Amino acid sequence: MKILTVITALSWSTICFAGGGDANAKRDTIAAVVMYGEELLFDAVTGLNDNQVRDLRDSVLKFHGASTFTNYLDLYISLTSKTEEQLVHYIDSLFETDEVPYALINQINIFLANRPEEFEEVIPKDLYIGNIEKPIPADEIYPAWIVGTPNPYEWNLGSEDTALSILLTDDKAMGEFHVPVKNVMTSKFGWRDGRMHNGVDIDLEVWDPVVSSFAGVVRVARVSGGYGRVVVVRHFNGLETLYAHLHRFKVKEGDRVEAGQVIGLGGSSGHSTGSHLHYEVRFKGKPLNPLSFISFDEDALVNDTLMLKRTKNGYVSYPKGILIYTVKRGDNLFEIARLYGTTTYRIAELNGIRRNGYLYVGQRLRVI
Ligand SMILES: [Zn+2]
Repeated sequence: MKILTVITALSWSTICFAGGGDANAKRDTIAAVVMYGEELLFDAVTGLNDNQVRDLRDSVLKFHGASTFTNYLDLYISLTSKTEEQLVHYIDSLFETDEVPYALINQINIFLANRPEEFEEVIPKDLYIGNIEKPIPADEIYPAWIVGTPNPYEWNLGSEDTALSILLTDDKAMGEFHVPVKNVMTSKFGWRDGRMHNGVDIDLEVWDPVVSSFAGVVRVARVSGGYGRVVVVRHFNGLETLYAHLHRFKVKEGDRVEAGQVIGLGGSSGHSTGSHLHYEVRFKGKPLNPLSFISFDEDALVNDTLMLKRTKNGYVSYPKGILIYTVKRGDNLFEIARLYGTTTYRIAELNGIRRNGYLYVGQRLRVI
C-alpha cells in the first residue's frame, strides 16, 4: 500500500491553514510529535481543520476518484471529534493492522500535537490583596521604596516569583479605577518598528488633565530622560503606573493620591512627537500589556482580579475568567461579539487584529 504523501498538484493557497502565528511555537510543537517515517496524508505543517480536510478530499475525489487516500481522509475527519484518549487507543489498533498506515498515524499525531487545548486557567498560588492603610503601598512585594527613578528594579525575577493574582480594585477597601485620559489610543503595547513599546500612547491636548488609575503613593514626579516629565505611582494593589511626556506636575513624590485624582497635565515633554500620554503599567518593574485587563473605551477594568503568569523575562497578565473562541466557517466578528455580549472593537483590541480584517477558520480569539 502506497500512501500519497504530497499533494502538490492541488492549490494549497486555498486549502492550507493560513492562520499564521508564532513560528517558534510551531516548531516546538512539531518537535514533540512522534513520527513514523516521513509519510503524511497532507503536506501541511500544522495540520488542517475538518473543513479544510473535507475540501481536500472533495478536490481529490473530483480529479482522481476514490482511493485509499480519500478513505484515510474520511477516517481522519471522523477521528478529529474524538478525545485524545480515544485517538491514542485508535493509533494502537492501527499498529495491529497488516499494513500499518503510517501516514494516517503521523497525521493523527500532528493533529493531537496541534489540537487547541482547552484554555487552561492558571490557579495562582496566592491572591494578593493590598492594604490601603500602609504608608508605603505593597511593601511586601517590593524590597525597597526608591523615589525618583522610574524603574529601579534591576533584579531578575526569582524562583518565588510564580503565578499570582492580585485584587485590582475593591470598592470598599481599595477604591476604584480610572483610565488616565479618555481619548483615542494612538499606539499599543508591544513590538513597534523593531523596538519594544512598554506602554500605550493616548492622544491628548497640552494642558489636558491626566489622572491616577488607582489609589497609591507617588514614587516619581520629575524629569527623566525620554519620558520627559514623568509621574510613577505605586498602588496598594501592587501595580505601578507611569505617566510620561507631561507638561506640568500636579503632585510631588511621596504624595498620596486617590483613583481619578489629577496627577499632571498632558504635554509633549521628553522624547515625544506631538502631545500624548505614554502610559505604562508595571509589576515588579516588568511591563504588562494594559489592554489585557483595561477596556479603554469603557473606562473600566475587565475584571477586578488580575492574573499574572511568569514568563521567561517577565509576566503576562490577563483578567480572571477570560474566554477563548475558535473561529468556525462562516463566522464574522460582529456575530462573535454579539454572542459574547462584547464589541468588535474590544475583540480587535484584545487580539491585536483589524476589525475589518480576515478571520481564519481555526483562529483562536480572546473574546473576554
Ligand atoms: Zn509611548
